[in-house]
Amino acid sequence: MEPFRMIIGGELVNGVSTLPVINPATEASIADCPRADESQLDQAVAAANSAFNGWAATPIAERRAALMAVADEMEAKVDELSRLLTSEQGKPLDKAVEEIIGSAMIMRGLATLDLPEKVVQEDETGKFLEQRYPLGVVAAIMPWNFPISLLVVKITPALLAGNTVVSKPAPTTPLTSLRVAEMLNRHMPAGVFNMICDNNDLGAALTAHSGVAKVSFTGSTATGKKVMESAANLLKRVTLELGGNDAAIVLDDVEPKSAAKDLFEGAMVNSGQVCLAIKRAYVHNSQYDEICDELVSLAKQAVVDDGSKQGAQYGPLQNKQQFDKVREMIDDAATHGTVEGGETLDRSGYFIRPAIVRDIDDNARVVREEQFGPVLPVLRYEDVDDAIARANDSDQGLGGTVWSSNKERALQVASKMETGMVWINSHMNITPFISMGGAKQSGMGLELGQSGLEEFTQRRLVFVPA
Ligand code: NAD
Repeated sequence: MEPFRMIIGGELVNGVSTLPVINPATEASIADCPRADESQLDQAVAAANSAFNGWAATPIAERRAALMAVADEMEAKVDELSRLLTSEQGKPLDKAVEEIIGSAMIMRGLATLDLPEKVVQEDETGKFLEQRYPLGVVAAIMPWNFPISLLVVKITPALLAGNTVVSKPAPTTPLTSLRVAEMLNRHMPAGVFNMICDNNDLGAALTAHSGVAKVSFTGSTATGKKVMESAANLLKRVTLELGGNDAAIVLDDVEPKSAAKDLFEGAMVNSGQVCLAIKRAYVHNSQYDEICDELVSLAKQAVVDDGSKQGAQYGPLQNKQQFDKVREMIDDAATHGTVEGGETLDRSGYFIRPAIVRDIDDNARVVREEQFGPVLPVLRYEDVDDAIARANDSDQGLGGTVWSSNKERALQVASKMETGMVWINSHMNITPFISMGGAKQSGMGLELGQSGLEEFTQRRLVFVPA
């Protein structure tokens, strides 16, 4: 394997030290990742600032063409990138291929957006024009569950709008990101796109840096709060995409078998390590036992294995810390309800089989907190208003789902959910053109679509007299 290097000022550079990257399916080291110190972080921010004026003055059509070329290269190298992604992230290879191809598609879609000057109002006195200009250096910070999609969702609009970028992947999944960074660097002038790596120790310095104008962060709510605090020094713009504890409300008119299948897939996708995964299901008393039985049967059938093995449906948890947290939550759940599944595999790797928790009360950790793992608590309800109130009784408000054979009834329930997104009879229907973001402590601001692009710009209102 070619060595992995960071990108600073157009150069491929080593870090001051290295960090082993672990394959979560084997616990063996795959490669050494370069690790930056604060002086390399300063160099990256300085390079991004030096490149800013030139990139901001580059016509948007040229910036768009560069991004399209990167998307083409990602797609052309899908085999290499997806194998690398599986080896560091753990997800099954077919899902890694989906992430790479999907990311190229998102990049292309987002790159077609535009920032035209608009006339906001015009009368006999004159007109108001709305213009948009880039902010400067954007810090893009990613978590480890979808390293490439989440990178692309941030940097595509940031770069298209004329900003330059200093990005930082999560320390446990930096390798595929570094390869994509090389592509970005090849298609853009030196310093426009920079990537540094750390061991969870440079995020605060990056977000507080006086050379950074905006922070686009995806990660946990706890870290998001720190980001907001450290960005306050210069009143930096922040977009925060944080944790979720999404509820699925299952109305009493569903077909139990197919509802169970939808719930299972929505909860266990990426081994539950998805911000928008179904993290709690509220199921009506009349169908509770049947749906739980079916969920348990799906959990028993699930193929949990090394993602590089043919037929693997679910990979390991991505890192030891997450594995330990999920194990703890399953143990706690067993004192509040009945756990079926959830066994640790007797082999190397951070494997936990899907777990269904039934007859659980609302106070268990796995109901109150984000588990971010393959565990689904199923809660009983009798009255749908009570289910909605319990679903809304959370500090988080990312997404949610409603399942019913009656779309009108489902819409009435969806319209009472205190979240940024709700899907009816579907899950994670996401396109590059529709902006999304979380309510409450699940985030601030929007990503994707026109509003997501505009978050990387400053609006300038100009009055032109008649
Ligand atoms: P995390 O908050 O621990 O880390 C995310 C990133 O922040 C990493 O790159 C980390 O190195 C960096 N970081 C650590 N300390 C920092 C600091 N003080 N300042 C700035 N950056 C710092 O999150 P994680 O465990 O990697 O990811 C899982 C979380 O991400 C879950 O809560 C999940 O719901 C959330 N998530 C949200 C979305 C969304 O769109 N809302 C998408 C994916 C994941």
